[in-house]
Amino acid sequence: MNTNNSKQAFQEAVKHIPGGVNSPVRAFKSVGGNPLFIQSATGAKITDIDQNEYIDYVGSWGPMILGHSHPTVTQALQNTLLSGTSFGAPTLLETEMANLICEMMPSIESVRMVNSGTEATMSALRLARGYTKRDLVIKFEGCYHGHGDSFLIKAGSGALTFGTPNSPGITKGTAHDTLTAEYNNLQSVTNLFDKYKDQIAAVILEPVTGNMGVIKPTDEFINGIRKACTDNGALLIFDEVMTGFRVAKGGAQQLLGITPDLTTMGKIIGGGLPVGAYGGKKEIMDLLAPNGPVYQAGTLSGNPMAMSAGLATLQILNESSTCYDELEQKSAFLVDGLERNLKEVGFPGVINRVGSMFTLFFTQQKTVNNFIDVMSCDTDLFAEYFKLSLESGIYTAPSQFEAGFVSLAHTQEDLQQTIDANKSALQQLNS
Ligand SMILES: *Cc1c(COP(=O)(O)O)cnc(C)c1O
Repeated sequence: MNTNNSKQAFQEAVKHIPGGVNSPVRAFKSVGGNPLFIQSATGAKITDIDQNEYIDYVGSWGPMILGHSHPTVTQALQNTLLSGTSFGAPTLLETEMANLICEMMPSIESVRMVNSGTEATMSALRLARGYTKRDLVIKFEGCYHGHGDSFLIKAGSGALTFGTPNSPGITKGTAHDTLTAEYNNLQSVTNLFDKYKDQIAAVILEPVTGNMGVIKPTDEFINGIRKACTDNGALLIFDEVMTGFRVAKGGAQQLLGITPDLTTMGKIIGGGLPVGAYGGKKEIMDLLAPNGPVYQAGTLSGNPMAMSAGLATLQILNESSTCYDELEQKSAFLVDGLERNLKEVGFPGVINRVGSMFTLFFTQQKTVNNFIDVMSCDTDLFAEYFKLSLESGIYTAPSQFEAGFVSLAHTQEDLQQTIDANKSALQQLNS
């Protein structure tokens, strides 16, 4: 496979872009080599600037549930474009978007649009603090909520201590307000509630994780957190930036049967344009300016381009009675094939899947249910697998700790080709 153009493009890019990329996960740091520069994408296929074509399981990290360049989305963008791209004044598209989000996710009665998932989680946390008049937040090791300061915090030295910054530039004061618990360990949450009684504003989590690979919460864990929040007057924030409108029409909250107080969204609701949103009970959302005292604003928030791409995407998902079944069938077919390969080749590994999100963990363990399990993965082996996949025309995230995404555009042929490529990669790794 010739990737000379990408190599050269990367050398140019690093001159004036930090690390050559505008988001670190795009660099091939954890797998080695240079990122591929993308020329175009249609359906489930993505083409780099050396004209290599790949079956894409990154899907722009989640938004492209319909596949790339979906004609309806493209048409909506073209129509909107001709009427002007931003006015800084209300448009009908924003009301339509809000109505549709509230219809598809009934826990949301009122919703504010922002420009990224990061902005959504930052703002939801501010609102939770404003509403509860408390400062502390509980998050989970391995969950990702964008790059807001309060979330770039790792566990402190003891399980019950305040967190420490994950990045230079985050103050001790900020770290002091973030507590870290263990995913799928309810006791680690209730311990924090006991120790910091009446001080916890919110618990935030990925209700199904994608950012440490796919992990489903146990019933005990997710129900226990809901109850602990209610009992202690803290808000439960589901970060559904990835899972929203992905794992089910109504997101992970529908799948799990849990009603969060606030939900953050992004990715799919922008249909490939920059977007985020947060919403929940009207009583809480009404605290936001201009109704209430909690400030949050945005020059380009709810802009017509993002609204039309997002609306076109959500409308298709909402109006089709078959698309989530179709995603489920395609994803099950793929993952069944991958699991069969592991068995037949005699290769150790675990595959977790929830709807159209899946991760193949390169681990000796039998199950992967928490961050410690995730950390058992052999990232060097993953890096080798990643390169073999790429060479056989399969484009996956360049990191072990990510979800793969199946879209409605993946054909049976694409999926079978992926299964075959996986088998031959596993065989090569085994020899
Ligand atoms: C992607 C993601 C974010 C951040 O969204 P951006 O648009 O990249 O800022 C936050 N939370 C979760 C769960 C995500 O997957």
